[in-house]
Amino acid sequence: MTDQTTTLANVRQMMREFVAERQWEKYHTPKNLAASVAVESGELLELFQWLTSEEATKRAVHDPAFRKAVGEELCDVLMYLVSLANALDLDIATAIEHKMARNRMKYPPEQYQGHYERPLPE
Ligand SMILES: [Mg+2]
Repeated sequence: MTDQTTTLANVRQMMREFVAERQWEKYHTPKNLAASVAVESGELLELFQWLTSEEATKRAVHDPAFRKAVGEELCDVLMYLVSLANALDLDIATAIEHKMARNRMKYPPEQYQGHYERPLPE
């Protein structure tokens, strides 16, 4: 299984089966899943918590045990996001398409070339 050969639909089905095999649907409410995304994001961030930016990059690139831990937390976040999409019957690719169209409007490349500045709230 690689990113090159696995679709979002495959991952969604894998999560659906994992949840159904355990009859965990009752726990997979939108509120619980959104909270779980935040919890797992915290676990991901915790790995980097006291490292300098340079140390974090170095470990993430060169330290196999650290890379494995990052990959596991990254998967936890992603799998809860996918489960949230399943619980809401929300099409992720469509949502990405719409969000990217908004981001392209919000950050025109000629205005944000090589720098970022948060736009003021509308
Ligand atoms: Mg975790």
